Amino acid sequence: MILSSGSLNIGMRPRAFNALLAQFPHLFYYMRIMDPAASRQIRNMGIFAHIDAGKTSLTERILFLSGRRRVAGTVDEGTTATDFLRVERERGITVKAACVQIDWKASSINLIDTPGHVDFGAEVERSLRVLDGAVLVLCGVAGVQARTEGILKAAARRNLPRIAFVNKMDRRGASFSRAVSELSELDRGAVPVQLPYGEGPDFAGVLDLVSLTYTAFPGSDPEGPGASCTGGSDPGLAPASPAPAAPAAPGGLGADPSFLAEGRAARARLVEALAEGDEAMMEAFAAGREPAEEELRTALRAACVAGRVTPVLCGSALVDTSVAFLLDAVKDLLPCPEEAGCPEGSDPATGQTLRRACDPDAAFSSFVFKTQADEHFGRLSWLRVWSGSLAPGDRLVEAGTGAVLRVQRIFAIQADALEDRGSARAGDIVAAAFSASGKSASASREGRGGQRSIPGSTGSSLCAPGAAILYEALDFSEPVVSLALEPFSRADGESLSRALSLLLEEDPSLRAREDGDTGRIILSGMGELHLDVAVERLRTELGVKIRAGQPQVSFREALSGQASAQCDFDRDMNGERVRAQLSLRLAPRARGSGKLFSTEAGFKVPAAYLAAFQRGVEASLSVGPAAGWPVDDVEAVFLSFSPPASRQVELVLEIAASIAAREALAKAGSLVLEPWMRVEIEAPEDCLGAAVSAITGRGGRVEAVEDSGGTKFVSAAAPLRLLFGFETELRSSSAGRASHQARFLRYEPQRP
Ligand code: GDP
Repeated sequence: MILSSGSLNIGMRPRAFNALLAQFPHLFYYMRIMDPAASRQIRNMGIFAHIDAGKTSLTERILFLSGRRRVAGTVDEGTTATDFLRVERERGITVKAACVQIDWKASSINLIDTPGHVDFGAEVERSLRVLDGAVLVLCGVAGVQARTEGILKAAARRNLPRIAFVNKMDRRGASFSRAVSELSELDRGAVPVQLPYGEGPDFAGVLDLVSLTYTAFPGSDPEGPGASCTGGSDPGLAPASPAPAAPAAPGGLGADPSFLAEGRAARARLVEALAEGDEAMMEAFAAGREPAEEELRTALRAACVAGRVTPVLCGSALVDTSVAFLLDAVKDLLPCPEEAGCPEGSDPATGQTLRRACDPDAAFSSFVFKTQADEHFGRLSWLRVWSGSLAPGDRLVEAGTGAVLRVQRIFAIQADALEDRGSARAGDIVAAAFSASGKSASASREGRGGQRSIPGSTGSSLCAPGAAILYEALDFSEPVVSLALEPFSRADGESLSRALSLLLEEDPSLRAREDGDTGRIILSGMGELHLDVAVERLRTELGVKIRAGQPQVSFREALSGQASAQCDFDRDMNGERVRAQLSLRLAPRARGSGKLFSTEAGFKVPAAYLAAFQRGVEASLSVGPAAGWPVDDVEAVFLSFSPPASRQVELVLEIAASIAAREALAKAGSLVLEPWMRVEIEAPEDCLGAAVSAITGRGGRVEAVEDSGGTKFVSAAAPLRLLFGFETELRSSSAGRASHQARFLRYEPQRP
């Protein structure tokens, strides 16, 4: 078997080749430098799933098969590579997106393992922004679950090519056809490219519908990585050992005639699915002709890359062979960076739309999708390089702020470890360490909620000087649950603020503020689990001694009407009498539309004045007149301003705007809004009654009940205020068999 990497041919079997790569991890990288065509072998893919579908186990098996790990760790023993945080290992859940790079049959795959719980949805959103393809993992027993739908919608919004993998086919109760039919309801392009032979404990092998070759699973092979791989896509590997239930028939198909007929029918459905948008397949379908293997493979790849079809595979994270087939599919069907292309951006100076080519020779541009605290460098930025190339010593400009950074080091990310790399180029995902250079030391950017962020932090577009392009910023949902943190001592207070700044920078969906009345720190997040994990990380990983209060709902206020106000500013500032006048109007906007800052028609002010006006008004809006909650969905119109004679114009303007806004707020009045959540409950049939009464007993409205293979899915809307402790109640009323996830739906006026 000859493995080829672009123009490099290596006469070696994949197992031996992968073992070599495991010993010399930079080998592939140097091959790429020698051979630019090999960058077409890069795949940037993410693994997404509802919690417990088997994503982390699958990632672990992938690392093992690719030779990255000698032994596959297990979630149950807390020994996986990608769930490396203490809290992840102890709880058996993923809370942070983790990146690993593997080599598979001369392709280099950057793999991002993402959390499945909705509280950590921000990790999924930001990963989707930098990937060229997605693997959606479904549980063969549970089928489509609450998060599956959310993930599919998010991937479809970005037109991200995807492959689905129906996992846990070895579990009792698994059904491939049920999982596929549920998936097809959400994704019309979902079409099987494999069929399982047997399900649950009888799961014995898979039929590849493109080549019509059957592979029986051998028992686990003591020889190590890749030993049990087989199949039509890689004839150089060891021949399949026939499973007792399905001996391989001449032609490579299982001997079972009904299975063979099922396979032919499924292949015909695949051809039909590909016929939409592919002339050769249309012709074959219309003529009732069976297309040749290569013809079908080419059409399948084109349709997957274009996002027209979602090929569906089946298997088990515990079976090497099926995971090897999944990796083959990632390599063969998902696009390389050049095919996926770069996203649209804009010129920060003119707002004009720009798009770069994914070309190492183009001007450098990249997007920071994550940052990580680092003991040597302070902070590392995780970059998706969209265009150009990068090397240590290069100077980069942050689009929008103009801050300048100098590249110190570039690393490949291997879960919690880093591997030094000499450079990075279009298509790569790397971690970079920067040092501030000149202007950057003082530059900062206004983040959401008025928080200042440092150059190179999450959401930054870092570009070559003189060629700035601003990529779409990341938009994190507003946190809806808060709790108070109290340090034990003054020293603990200092370590708390240091630890919090690290945590908040890593996770921009967390917010922290000091409570004006009590001086306590209020930490806000997406849900109870999100905050619980944050507090545990502060205590265990970052060693801060703190008391944490009970989680509370974050309310909001909405203006009851519109009002205008004027501030006659007249104060002594540094011994100088300063006078100014400012007037403004506040008016309510549609719910969920956010804040808008504008000037009255015909009234022109410099941009710096409008920014100061915004800062002043925002400060007053953070404390609403009804109960002190932040006021949202407001239009603030700047009506007039007579500037002071002093030089502190912007400071005076900011203070005057804040005073006038406070007065306008008091005049307009407000009502308190509370967050409502979309609650998705999953319960066995006999627990449905208990689940429904649990949610209605908490003021929830049941909107739909669906059935999938005997499991009931209840969709309800309920006020978050009444949902604390709901999971415990649900579990105790169903003997631990029902569970739920809740995500923010909308704000509604609070009822008594
Ligand atoms: P994640 O939450 O999606 O990352 O799922 P995990 O990888 O943590 O797996 C959840 C549970 O299912 C663990 O107990 C795994 O050992 C188990 N599991 C995962 N994949 C499979 C599989 O293919 N077959 C079987 N039988 N169990 C699996």
